[in-house]
Amino acid sequence: MSEPPVYELFAIRYATREAKRADHFIGGDPHDAPMAMDYFLWVAKGPKAFIIDTGFTAEVAKKRGRTYLRDPIDTLKLIGVDADAVEDVILTHLHYDHVGNFYRFPKAQFHLQEPEMHYATGRHIRHSRLAHSFEVEDVVGMVRLNFAKRVMFHNGGAELAPGITLHPVGGHSAGLQFVKVHTKRGWVVVASDTTHFYENMMTGRPFTTAFHVGLMLEAFDTLRAHAETPQHIVPGHDPLVMTFYPPVSPELAGIVARLDVAPDDTELSKIAPQH
Ligand SMILES: [Zn+2]
Repeated sequence: MSEPPVYELFAIRYATREAKRADHFIGGDPHDAPMAMDYFLWVAKGPKAFIIDTGFTAEVAKKRGRTYLRDPIDTLKLIGVDADAVEDVILTHLHYDHVGNFYRFPKAQFHLQEPEMHYATGRHIRHSRLAHSFEVEDVVGMVRLNFAKRVMFHNGGAELAPGITLHPVGGHSAGLQFVKVHTKRGWVVVASDTTHFYENMMTGRPFTTAFHVGLMLEAFDTLRAHAETPQHIVPGHDPLVMTFYPPVSPELAGIVARLDVAPDDTELSKIAPQH
């Protein structure tokens, strides 16, 4: 079998919020210290471009009290991607911070695990604890896109192209998926919310937004099983991503990082489990 093509892989940081450590672990945390959460989308650029998640809008940022740093879709231009021309958007799940700008991709097919659509439109959403993570307009938007033949449902793993694969996992949402991208440093696992922070996975402590805690813990193992080393796993919301990985250029520090080069190992080892 020939090697799959090599993709460039980027993380775009578009929003942030102040939070405390106890906000991010079921069962809380003994250290009363701040722990910010960043918001990202990811781009794999190779024979064609795949956008992984679409971020939320300025309007939703205001409504939810998030600090909006920049328009994530406009930011795509900085790495030479034109949203108008994008053909494939992978949605890891339908939470508000992953799908909000879907309408900015007029030509795209949206790749989604089918159980996520059932979840977002089904019986559990009558519970605000679960509904809170969704924006109803996003969910309705996905229903409309489906009628327009623009949602590609997957039930299980899939190869979208050589070098781009989808992997469903339970836990955080009912139809979450992570993405593997073949890069010059091997396969990189874009975990999205399979693990919000390095620390959730590394210490086996689930994140507070959970549909199924047991499946979330198993999903940490699944990530590890798919990654050559822990350094090949990119968490969904960890500000450390922007310090571990180099910016595309000095001007884009804190805005766009390259995930297709190895992260700073010494930094990663500093977040060993602490109890
Ligand atoms: Zn989520």
